[in-house]
Amino acid sequence: MLNIVLFGPPGAGKGTQANRIKDHYSLVHLSTGDIFRFNITKATKLGLLAKSYMDKGELVPDEVTIKMLESEVIKHPNSSGFIFDGFPRTTNQAETLDKFLESKNISISKMVALDVPDEELIKRLLSRGKESGRADDQNKDIISNRIKVYKDQTAVLADYYRSQNKLASVNGVGAVDEITIRLYNAIDN
Ligand code: AMP
Repeated sequence: MLNIVLFGPPGAGKGTQANRIKDHYSLVHLSTGDIFRFNITKATKLGLLAKSYMDKGELVPDEVTIKMLESEVIKHPNSSGFIFDGFPRTTNQAETLDKFLESKNISISKMVALDVPDEELIKRLLSRGKESGRADDQNKDIISNRIKVYKDQTAVLADYYRSQNKLASVNGVGAVDEITIRLYNAIDN
């Protein structure tokens, strides 16, 4: 079983690349951001709660996010693996994910991290905001807060997976196809 954490700041290209990796390795793609956005469009209780945090560029509380992620994983008992996109984002999420997977006799195979400089992230997010209409991509203050939250709470997870010898970093700047090849190489090595 191949279980990948696709890691990187907002705007690094995780969604685009996760879709390709999912197809290439026949994995189930779990994007916590996409699941929250789906719940927002359906106006579920979870969606309303998530929106109140997402609108500020803050993280949805761990207990809500973890419960949701676990319920998605158990929907796919026969999968040949998962690609986690946008999860884990805190040390608590990473530790809980490890314990949860261990209880199912599986584990994270690798974290692949996309490295992209801040100026490029802001440029990409503002341009995505114009195309997709995503509210949290249209406002510079929200974008800056998301990058700050990433640095304060999420970036440390690179150390978490490095200490388990599972971290592979990839240059996330360049043509989308080139970056995909870099990711495949990182996963296959
Ligand atoms: P994303 O689509 O990954 O950029 O996520 C969009 C927003 O959803 C984030 O800014 C957070 O508010 C929320 N979110 C997504 N994943 C998580 C997570 N693992 N933990 C907490 N909040 C999350």
